[in-house]
Amino acid sequence: VIKEKHRNNYNLFESSISENFKTMLTMERELRKALKEGQFEVHYQPQKSLHSKEIVGFEALLRWSHPVKGYIPPDDFIPLAEKTGLIIDIGDWVLKEACRQNKAWQDKGYQPIIVSVNLSAKQFHQKNLVEKVEQILESTGLEPCYLELEITESMAMTNEESILKTMNRLRKFGVLVSIDDFGTGYSSLKYLSIFPITKLKIDKMFMDENQKQNQAIVKSIIHMSHSLNMKVIAEGVETIEQLTFLENEKCDEMQGFYYSKPLPPEQLTELFQTV
Ligand code: C2E
Ligand code: MG
Ligand code: MG
Ligand code: MG
Repeated sequence: VIKEKHRNNYNLFESSISENFKTMLTMERELRKALKEGQFEVHYQPQKSLHSKEIVGFEALLRWSHPVKGYIPPDDFIPLAEKTGLIIDIGDWVLKEACRQNKAWQDKGYQPIIVSVNLSAKQFHQKNLVEKVEQILESTGLEPCYLELEITESMAMTNEESILKTMNRLRKFGVLVSIDDFGTGYSSLKYLSIFPITKLKIDKMFMDENQKQNQAIVKSIIHMSHSLNMKVIAEGVETIEQLTFLENEKCDEMQGFYYSKPLPPEQLTELFQTV
């Protein structure tokens, strides 16, 4: 009986591995199809200045509108897109679409603001990334100062030299560079003084007021950013209490559900200022 049981467990284990594998293959095929058939969308979440109280930017967030499963959040498919390399083509599309949309808004007479696009490590390490960005800006007509690229803290830690070179070239061209999810990676602070970073994005985990130390951490990040001539934005702001704290601490900007969740482009325009 015992032997029997073990064998069944083993089979169960084995079949769940191959199930996972099949699911992955299906998803990879579906991702390729999604790109070809235009199932991806970019939604935008406004970023508000705590000084002027105006919208100063918005983050481009990828959405997969699956024909059967509905909206699939990026955390559910970006890891696989990264593993398979598909993130390069998908990322190119996001970058192009976000720049095109931002320029289209400017052409309609809205106050020019910054669009912020997430790049995964694979994208940032492309040899021709800077050329690609330049080409997209040229073809869409968007000025470089209205594009920000977000990279995560953990990525900044790897391959320091090549990252620095790419960042410097992007900054020279006029594109802004921010560090996303700041505070969640391996916290060596060395690169903050080396890399030409324009903004730190404090990770939303630090907005949790139940963790008493969080307020001290947020304060320190704000002060450090300003000392190093960087702007600082808080992510995941959901309550008036969080907002008030950030205003008191002179945080520059906020992004979060308290103000607006990410929205499809057609729902955003009522928030804009006309020039
Ligand atoms: P992220 O770049 O840190 O983006 C912020 C995430 O926090 C978004 O999740 C956003 O919807 C969510 N968020 C915003 N405000 C609040 C709030 O007040 N409370 C809470 N709980 N959450 C809030 P989303 O859109 O699901 O994206 C998840 C992650 O997927 C992003 O995290 C980013 O790392 C990645 N991602 C999204 N779009 C792209 C893309 O085009 N390319 C790449 N490489 N990664 C992307
Ligand atoms: Mg981001
Ligand atoms: Mg983030
Ligand atoms: Mg993130």
